[in-house]
Amino acid sequence: MIVDVHSHTPTHRDAVPPGERRVYSNWRTDRDVTTTNSWADYDREMAAADVTIVFNIAVDDPEPMTGLPYLPERTNDATAEFVAADPARRIGFLSVNPLWDNVFEETERCRELGLRGVKLGPNYQDFDPLGERALAFYAHCEQEGLPILFHAGASPMRHAPLRYTHPLVFDEVALRFPELRMVLAHMGHPWSTDTVVTIRKHPHVYADVSSIYLRPWVCYQSLLAAHEWGCTDKLLLGSDFPIAGTAEAMAGIRRVNDILDGTALPRVPLEEVERIIHADALGALGLDR
Ligand SMILES: [Zn+2]
Repeated sequence: MIVDVHSHTPTHRDAVPPGERRVYSNWRTDRDVTTTNSWADYDREMAAADVTIVFNIAVDDPEPMTGLPYLPERTNDATAEFVAADPARRIGFLSVNPLWDNVFEETERCRELGLRGVKLGPNYQDFDPLGERALAFYAHCEQEGLPILFHAGASPMRHAPLRYTHPLVFDEVALRFPELRMVLAHMGHPWSTDTVVTIRKHPHVYADVSSIYLRPWVCYQSLLAAHEWGCTDKLLLGSDFPIAGTAEAMAGIRRVNDILDGTALPRVPLEEVERIIHADALGALGLDR
């Protein structure tokens, strides 16, 4: 089974009206990314996955904060409606800001809507991931068995503090909440070696490989580090739709050794790449029940 653990909720149920189309140029260096998309666009791009995890990020003003245009008051309802339309293939994560007064009420409301995990981007949401309110929220997630997928590593958004995205921040979280299941997005690129030593030591901390292949050297050194530290089994497939689709994400990491032609550099074993693609992500995150 192929599980794509990282995708963003499509912005439109039906075809995007031409006047509402948005394009963002900073996600990829090779092409622009269309950040408005329909449910059908999503299904086409994610067709290679048997199951996908999908979410928005709870911010007051999505487009300047995250680069993704969606209605802030519909952050979680849009995801819940999308998942309810094809619940066998889609798992929805909720998003909240731990600084909200109603964070626990909103979390409970979203769980009643069927959302089964949490997406947080402390850099986009401007909360300290080691602050008191954040720690109280992680304690709740640990107790309730809610996995959290954290944005980790680089972001092109100017206002988003990089210090909130470093993988070693999440070592601190895991030390305090050892049973909390976490995914560090993008292997925390470019700090993927720091991600590797973090996921290696914590049984319930994983990383997704979304977007790493967009930079061939980052992809190579990230996957080689995971191989050399013996933790490719802690890596999960992700596409980061709309930045890419599942098929492109799979093809991207399968090309990891292509830059090595004519060199004596060590190769990433391709059977380990296949194990990432076919990883039991739902079991890892406690979502198989
Ligand atoms: Zn993402």
